[in-house]
Amino acid sequence: MPRIIEPQLHDEERELEFSLRPVTFDEFVGQPRLKEQLSIFMQAALERKEPLDHCLFYGPPGLGKTTLAHLVAHSMKSQIRVTTGPVLDKPADLAGLLTNLQDGDVLFIDEIHRLNSAVEEYLYPAMEDFKLDIMIDKGPAARTLQLDLSRFTLVGATTRAGLLTGPLRSRFGMTFRLDYYSPEDLGKILHRTARLLGVNCTEEGIAEIAGRSRGTPRVANRLLRRIRDVAQVRGEAKITAGLAHEALQLLEIDEFGLDDLDVRLMKALLTKFRGGPVGLGTLAVTVGEDEGTLEELCEPYLIRQGFLERTSRGRMATHRAFEHFGIDHRTEDQARLL
Ligand code: ADP
Repeated sequence: MPRIIEPQLHDEERELEFSLRPVTFDEFVGQPRLKEQLSIFMQAALERKEPLDHCLFYGPPGLGKTTLAHLVAHSMKSQIRVTTGPVLDKPADLAGLLTNLQDGDVLFIDEIHRLNSAVEEYLYPAMEDFKLDIMIDKGPAARTLQLDLSRFTLVGATTRAGLLTGPLRSRFGMTFRLDYYSPEDLGKILHRTARLLGVNCTEEGIAEIAGRSRGTPRVANRLLRRIRDVAQVRGEAKITAGLAHEALQLLEIDEFGLDDLDVRLMKALLTKFRGGPVGLGTLAVTVGEDEGTLEELCEPYLIRQGFLERTSRGRMATHRAFEHFGIDHRTEDQARLL
């Protein structure tokens, strides 16, 4: 199964991220439709004194899936257990977790698309009937023992909803897609983070960072911390638009927030393949990344920014991409299409 290579979070960063995580739904910025739907379902479940139905959050990394899982537990006044797909190696690992859950608890499985099939099959009756079938012995003496579980809520998160099997996906009562954030919403998140970190920013400084954060709260918070470092070393008391601009140049973040991999992908597409169309596999080999990473991490943002198109013949750069990167190698075919 292709793996997404996400930038690894250092311990210090993980801790900081934890401290910046919104604790209540009011602090969770953006995603209005998701918030509205989720709060209705949570209120209904609370009124019926039932656990919330299982829910799945999907979308690119850093958009708030883990945060939402914690918010669900907090709002439902329940405990949360956290694990990730690849950690659950054997059905016994899952059984250990499930049998320790109390009524109403939230079990959060991050990267749920990476569960192995044996564990996943174990999960089906647990999700559906709150029952667990345990195999005792092997061979002719093998028997199954059925255990009753507490009524829990499974919250799954994935960057790759397409890799989830049909049976697993259909067992979630609710599925929510997280979208990239607008610069305005990122601005609100940055204001809150600046306040929590005790950093002084001008409105224009915040707007400069928000516009280059790739639509992603995690990126916005990370950039703010790096710019704070620059401000400190330069002896500046405030992050102004000028300082943010200078620091972002130092960090090689371009004006659309494209990161190094986005830029490498676009440059390969524009120069080596004259804007395409080219297959994803070929592009992946050219930039030395796996297909999943390009498809799930880079492409959604590049498409949203209007730099890339997925066509039946392969990936194509848009007119805007040629202009932004200052490249003019279009073939006649390309020029006609765009
Ligand atoms: P994911 O699980 O999707 O990778 P996280 O939930 O870990 O993303 O979010 C990364 C960081 O971004 C969190 O620490 C949190 O501070 C911030 N964040 C994400 N979404 C929001 C939001 N809607 N409002 C405020 N902060 C957010």
